[in-house]
Amino acid sequence: MTSQTSSDCLFCKIVAGEIPSDRVAETERSIAFRDISPTAPVHVLVVPRRHEPTVGALAAASADDLADVFRLAAQVAELEGVAGAHRMIVNTGPGAGQTVFHAHVHVLGGATFTEGRMV
Ligand code: 5GP
Ligand code: ZN
Repeated sequence: MTSQTSSDCLFCKIVAGEIPSDRVAETERSIAFRDISPTAPVHVLVVPRRHEPTVGALAAASADDLADVFRLAAQVAELEGVAGAHRMIVNTGPGAGQTVFHAHVHVLGGATFTEGRMV
């Protein structure tokens, strides 16, 4: 059984309000807040309130929570004015650049993507 919060998890503390964040939107299941170190003019993180280490683990644990994260990410893109030009990025594992092991989606937009297509 995976616990739904993890006492030493940064994003669980942000979800709980123990660490401040610049929230842009939230639902019963998920919250969205600005990345502390943005790499694009719009850089928002969308995280489930439930603690799971990766998006894959979240999908296995709760399809409803997974769907809610992506629904909220799409709403954030609308709110931030980048609905027609944004990327949703999920890093999984240290080798892919994951540094916080609480599932999250990066919503990036507001700049030209200089690297063009990645896939
Ligand atoms: P990852 O590298 O795991 O895909 O993404 C983690 C993200 O969390 C990074 O982009 C990093 O800038 C962001 N981050 C790390 N610590 C904090 C924090 O305390 N507050 C906020 N708002 N973002 C953070
Ligand atoms: Zn957590």
